[in-house]
Amino acid sequence: MLLVQTKISKITIYNKFLIQKIKYKQMKIIEIKELHKTYENAGIPVHAVNGIDLDFNQGEFAAIVGPSGSGKTTFLNMIGGLDSPTKGNILINGVEINSLSDRKRIDFRMKNIGFVFQAYNLIPVLTAKENVEFIMELQKRPKKEREQRAISLLEAVGLGNKLNERPKRLSGGQQQRVAVARALASKPKFILADEPTANLDSTSTKNLLNIMEKLNREENITFIFSTHDQRVVDKARRIITIDDGKIKNDIKK
Ligand code: ADP
Repeated sequence: MLLVQTKISKITIYNKFLIQKIKYKQMKIIEIKELHKTYENAGIPVHAVNGIDLDFNQGEFAAIVGPSGSGKTTFLNMIGGLDSPTKGNILINGVEINSLSDRKRIDFRMKNIGFVFQAYNLIPVLTAKENVEFIMELQKRPKKEREQRAISLLEAVGLGNKLNERPKRLSGGQQQRVAVARALASKPKFILADEPTANLDSTSTKNLLNIMEKLNREENITFIFSTHDQRVVDKARRIITIDDGKIKNDIKK
């Protein structure tokens, strides 16, 4: 009798553990409500983002696709708190990023979001390795851990032989790969990437996708990227199509 009870309680505990695990996996990380961004171009309003409602769960690997000028960059900029909406809300882990002060928003970004954006440049006076280490230094991680992670990430993006080069000695594509390694270094909750493979050759693209998938699978980091690259789209498990600032399609594979 006692043996049966022990067995039942073990099963109950295990079931609870599984439910917790599923909940963790499916936890909403980003909630976007009625999002709008309107720019003025020579007095004419441009509705770059025109009423988007969307959620992302922890652990997603999602691609945002759509023609040039459809609003992808504006949308990603707002999720990252780099641009503010004209109307609507973005909650990240329940925090409304646009209601934070500038200082708190910077801190929030550093702790939660990794960026791979063209406009988010590398620090010119630092080497590739130092650029990747920099954010971990701000996070006060031990020196040895910083160095090891920076080296392994740079090796993973095919730059193991450029650790000590400064950005101006690297090509555009190589700089972008350093930016990817830097975004991954801080172990953020999610990574926003605007055309991450735009300047990469096919070997680097393959390496980059492999490391992104590995981090997504093993560390449950959420990836949201805009892309035109079919190789990236093929790897995505969710494909969101934007056109004229609106969601046209949202497919989960
Ligand atoms: P995508 O990333 O899909 O190419 P964008 O988000 O860059 O699209 O642009 C969406 C629309 O908003 C375009 O019509 C673009 O010209 C306009 N736009 C983007 N940024 C600005 C800005 N800073 N000022 C005025 N118009 C802008």
